Amino acid sequence: DIDHVYEALLHTSIDVDSLEPDSVLEEKWIKEVVKMSGMKFKWATLTVDRDRENKDVERQPLPDPAVLVSRPPVVTIMGHVDHGKTTLLDSLRKSQLAAMEAGGITQHIGAFLVQLPSGEKITFLDTPGHAAFSAMRARGALVTDIVILVVAADDGVMRQTVESIQHAKKAGVPIIVAVNKCDKKDADPERVKRELLTHGVVCEELGGDVQAIHVSALKGENLLELAEATVTLAEVLELKADPTSLVEGTIIESRTDKGKGPVTTAIVQRGTLRKGCVLVAGATWAKVRFLYDENGRVVSEAGPSVAVEIVGWKELPTAGEEILEVDSEQRAREAVEWRSFQENQEKLQEDKQVIESKQQQHDEAYQKERQATAHLSWRQRKIAMYKANKHLMSSRPSEKAGGADLSLPIIVKGDVDGSVEAIMNILQSYDAAEQCQLDVVHFGVGDVSENDLTLAETFSGVIYGFNVKANKSIQQKASKQGIQIKLHKIIYKLIDDLKDELSNRLPPTV
Ligand code: GDP
Repeated sequence: DIDHVYEALLHTSIDVDSLEPDSVLEEKWIKEVVKMSGMKFKWATLTVDRDRENKDVERQPLPDPAVLVSRPPVVTIMGHVDHGKTTLLDSLRKSQLAAMEAGGITQHIGAFLVQLPSGEKITFLDTPGHAAFSAMRARGALVTDIVILVVAADDGVMRQTVESIQHAKKAGVPIIVAVNKCDKKDADPERVKRELLTHGVVCEELGGDVQAIHVSALKGENLLELAEATVTLAEVLELKADPTSLVEGTIIESRTDKGKGPVTTAIVQRGTLRKGCVLVAGATWAKVRFLYDENGRVVSEAGPSVAVEIVGWKELPTAGEEILEVDSEQRAREAVEWRSFQENQEKLQEDKQVIESKQQQHDEAYQKERQATAHLSWRQRKIAMYKANKHLMSSRPSEKAGGADLSLPIIVKGDVDGSVEAIMNILQSYDAAEQCQLDVVHFGVGDVSENDLTLAETFSGVIYGFNVKANKSIQQKASKQGIQIKLHKIIYKLIDDLKDELSNRLPPTV
């Protein structure tokens, strides 16, 4: 039954185009055809491993109220652009309130501590604006206890003032209003308060419970009052934490320092961070080597609500990520390994969905095509089918107007049509933007074959396989001929690999 054989052949690595209509199939091909019935079940290689033991960091139980001690409030400054957020942060940092010792050079680590004459402390996050605040919120991390809403007295409530109010309300964080620029002639603080009223912020003077302090960030006026109002509100909020438990915290900034390597600033939320602590964050971990404060001084420990710069990460974790202490390096490695595994599983799931839907589309298209071309010979039909996919093939560089100087010829093999199509779709969207052109010389379903090798040799190409194999003799031949065969089981890894290969082919930039 030639139709049946043809159909089967399409799912194998045999180059059907090279067959003459009357060819007699060799035994090895017949075997491949027989194998074809199993092709659709190659999904086994994409099976998601759900039975693996969860090795993530266990959550600590809620602390015993008896061990809780008060902690300083963590404050974010928000408000409309140009209303004075940065100026206020600068003044607070420089003011006599700040516990600065002689010689301390303030550096930006994302937060700083201010100490009042009464001894009370406040931690200010010094990335003003709600972008940082919402980025944290999006990750489910709420490090802020109080929002200081800066409103310029000469300008009043503006769009970002309203947005800031909404952000704070949504997060359930109480507000203190800093009516700024009160030194200006046209300042009208009372108008500001009336305007705030219409947005649900009721200041004390108007019968509500929101404190509003008239300040001048520029002249440093009334900053102590603002700080005292903050401490008062903190007392009402009864902010407490257990300084004795394992450390929990949130990363507010991360960067790579030339000398120190990966560095993060974190706000400690529970426990006391010390040198030697082993921490897990995202898919990386740290054994704390050094802790620094915002003045660049080494500190020996950091308790709840304190911001410190942490040195000792294996890789750089992302801002917004949660930090959890574990009791050994071994535990940290296990947890990180588990998290990376889980990440991979999620990617696999995504791949699976993409491939399945592509496979379905492909099958439907194939059925349609078969009906439409029922009158054609199998060879004509094969050509018609691959023509339908022709748009996926990029043209030869030499055929291009102007001609691209660089190209990376590739051969793509996948376990099922769906996966090949999924990869081709990604490549298509990727192609044009690159300086080095991707040149797909061949794509198809099945393990890496002799034919693929020949093509790779002819075009000096690289073979990319997704969920397929290359047997020993193919591998040996490839290495003898210097042909690269790259096999992957996750699409994004294959694409990453391809991107690397593309940039490798680029001349080094100055
Ligand atoms: P941000 O965009 O909210 O961070 O605002 P900036 O702190 O950059 O301030 C915007 C402008 O307002 C700058 O020119 C500041 O010098 C000025 N400014 C800030 N606070 C005051 C203030 O209290 N009084 C006066 N007169 N000008 C201020």
